[in-house]
Amino acid sequence: MVSTPPVRDRPSTPVAAPPRSAASARSVRSVLFAVAALELAAAGCKRHPPVTRPASVAVVPPAPAAPIPAAAPVDRPRRIKRVVIISEDGLRPDALMNVLPPVHAEIMKHAAFSLQARTIRRASTLPSHAAMLSGFDVKQHGLYWNSWKPERGYIQVPTIFDAAEQSGMGAAAFVGKKKLEHIAHPGSVDVFSRSGYFCKKVVEEASQYLVDKRPQIEFIHFSDPDDLGHSDGWMSNAQLEAVRHTDRCLRTLLDATAAAGLDRDTLFIISADHGGHGHNHSGKIKEDRLIPWIAWGPGVRAGHRIVSPISTVDTAATTLWALGYPPTPGAIGRPVLEAFDPETIAASGPSRTGTLKGFLKPPAKSSDEQSSSSLTRSPPTSF
Ligand SMILES: [Zn+2]
Repeated sequence: MVSTPPVRDRPSTPVAAPPRSAASARSVRSVLFAVAALELAAAGCKRHPPVTRPASVAVVPPAPAAPIPAAAPVDRPRRIKRVVIISEDGLRPDALMNVLPPVHAEIMKHAAFSLQARTIRRASTLPSHAAMLSGFDVKQHGLYWNSWKPERGYIQVPTIFDAAEQSGMGAAAFVGKKKLEHIAHPGSVDVFSRSGYFCKKVVEEASQYLVDKRPQIEFIHFSDPDDLGHSDGWMSNAQLEAVRHTDRCLRTLLDATAAAGLDRDTLFIISADHGGHGHNHSGKIKEDRLIPWIAWGPGVRAGHRIVSPISTVDTAATTLWALGYPPTPGAIGRPVLEAFDPETIAASGPSRTGTLKGFLKPPAKSSDEQSSSSLTRSPPTSF
């Protein structure tokens, strides 16, 4: 069982950010709030009143939004060399827009995004993340439970980690919850790490690894919004404060990647596994299933509000497409092409040979066993 650390472990120091003009910040906020209001009205959601912090909550001065470099124009096919997926556990789109923390706001200014994406019907952490990272729903991927049960083995379909592993390109996962290891077949990731429960420790390790090892696919999981949603309620002041925590963690990641020059050829996908209401989430109501979906990187349409429907299974399909892998046979996810410039789409197409095979109902293995799969390896393909 994963123990829940005390709330005091949450980061409380604002991340230093370069200044940007107040007028620009107001402009970004006004545009994003207008978009959010329209989308949430369309979804029948009620706007939540402005956040009033209780006296017991430490007040963190809002960090000025730092400039996020605009995605570079596509000057040749395959500018995207790696994909980093950040999942903010339990983050409702209206929670994000209620807070509109500075780093997310700046990213969205240069990103293609939807506040109407949906997770699968079984809106809980393990089944939803398995769908996000494989492109299959529960009936196919087989992870219908929501806890760490090593005797049950691993996901029953190929994942994006398998694609990178088969090509020798490297994949890694940094998470706050042990149960997510069910999604990583043994050998499919070079590192599966849970250095902490909340995002601060997770992102520090994830950022260092990304800069040092530069895997083709890195998955990063932030627990904070879900934890405070269960303890204090979704859309509570405490849960909204958790959104600010993840914003600062995101800043840590982006600072590291920018300093290393990785932002020029990395596609970032920021999403969530589910939302929530009251103190829980089941998937029965839309507040449980609505999730944000934000893509930012080279070849992505800047400031574009995606109107086509997005499911969490599309995250896997988009990742494979962006990296030149063929779609996984039988997967229900589809690449979110609306997020990309026409030039990027025109230059796209599977550039790698072979398809993902194996892992259909694999035997249960312990996490430290080496994979003995019969996966067909594809030769690495340069971009
Ligand atoms: Zn969750």
